[in-house]
Order: sequence, then C-alpha cells, then structure tokens
Amino acid sequence: MKIIAANWKLHKTPQEAREFCDQLLTQIPKLKAKNQLMIFPSALCLEAVAEKLKVTSVQFGLQNVHFEGQGAFTGENSATASLSVGAQVALVGHSERRALFHEKDEVLAKKVKFLQEQGLTPVFCIGETLAERESQRTIEVLEYQLREGLKLAFPQKSLVVAYEPVWAIGTGKVASLEQVEEAHQEVNRILKELGFNSATPILYGGSVKPDNASLLASIPHVHGFLIGGASLHVESYLAIASV
Ligand code: PEP
Repeated sequence: MKIIAANWKLHKTPQEAREFCDQLLTQIPKLKAKNQLMIFPSALCLEAVAEKLKVTSVQFGLQNVHFEGQGAFTGENSATASLSVGAQVALVGHSERRALFHEKDEVLAKKVKFLQEQGLTPVFCIGETLAERESQRTIEVLEYQLREGLKLAFPQKSLVVAYEPVWAIGTGKVASLEQVEEAHQEVNRILKELGFNSATPILYGGSVKPDNASLLASIPHVHGFLIGGASLHVESYLAIASV
C-alpha cells in the first residue's frame, strides 16, 4: 500500500475543488484498492472536499493547524473543526511553512502532539536545503528535525513522515534514486531510535510526476508520495496513484 498525498497549497476555489472530487470519484473504482489517497486542500476548500469524499476511503485534512483547537487565535486553522467535517490527517512543518511563515521546531512539536491527541494523523514534513546538502549535512538536518519536531509525539499513535528535499519542491529537480534511498533509510533508522513504529510510513516529496513515480516507488522505505504541482489535475494525480 502506498500513500498518495495531494498538497494543493493555495490553489483552487471551493467550486474547483468540488469539480476535482467529482472527476476523482468517477475514476476511483478503476484504481488499485491498495493505495491510500489523501488530499490537503486550502482551508477554505476543506468542507467542499469533505462533502464529496467523506463517504469514500480518501482521507483529507488541513495543510496547517494551530496547536490549540479553539480560542483567540485570529487567522489560524482549527484541527478540531477539521475533525468535525471528517478530516483524518493534517500536514505539519511543510518547508513553505518553515521558510515563509517562520515555523520553528518547538511549535511544530506542539502541533504534532495536538493532532495526535485529537485522533488526527500528522503528516510531518522534513527536508534539507540545497546549502545543507552541499555541505554534507543532510542526515544531520533530518535527524535534528525529527528529534525536535517529534519530541512531544506519542510513539504509539499514528504518524506519517514526509521527506521533501527543499531544493526539489516545485523546481522540477528530483532527488536521485540514491539520495532518496539513503534519506529514507536514515529516516527509518532515526524513527526506530526515537521509539516509533518501524512501519511508520515515509513519503517522498519533490517534483514527483507521472513519469518518475514508478521508479521512486520502487525504492526501499518509500511508502508513497507528497505531491504539489502534479496533484492539481486529476489525470496526473491518478497517473501517480496508479503506481
Ligand atoms: C510539495 O508541495 O510538497 C511538493 C512536493 O511540491 P511539488 O510536487 O510541486 O514539488
């Protein structure tokens, strides 16, 4: 079973989200049942996606949540409210949240904990910048992000990790098979050292497209993908989901 997760970022109106789901629903019966689809729409489109998909096996959730479910937090997204429309998952620590919105490991750790307490599965994103890779610090950075971001997490509750090299996101540059294999093997090792289940799924993200998905999917410890650009169209999303 592979997890095929769509990160729509700040794309699509609620109407466009509904149209995507309608098209997806016509294709689901043809898909391999073994793959788990997941969709992360923008917050304003979550309910539209929920209305269409809550009776299916497709999981959906927010791209970012606050670490409290309600209160005086103007502009934040509530994980608790997402649960009420049927969400099962949420992204935490996407590199755009870390870089553009200055989210720090300490805050990410609280978000992971809160999601797990609420019964939602955090999809926790990690990844090195180009400068970090070029200075041979990739594994050290991944280890730091995992240790810090998961330090309040419950090892026995559900968790997904997404390895996304920052330099491969939205750039068309895909990490080589060797780079992905090494990173996933190390993430698996670190998760085990931190006491997490060795079956914790580890997704790869960074310019995944229909033409590179099968090779990437064959790498050990690659349990699926987190997809940005290619997830915006049902055809390319499902072509990846058919691997
Ligand atoms: C992402 O947004 O997480 C991502 C991997 O984007 P893309 O597939 O466009 O590189």
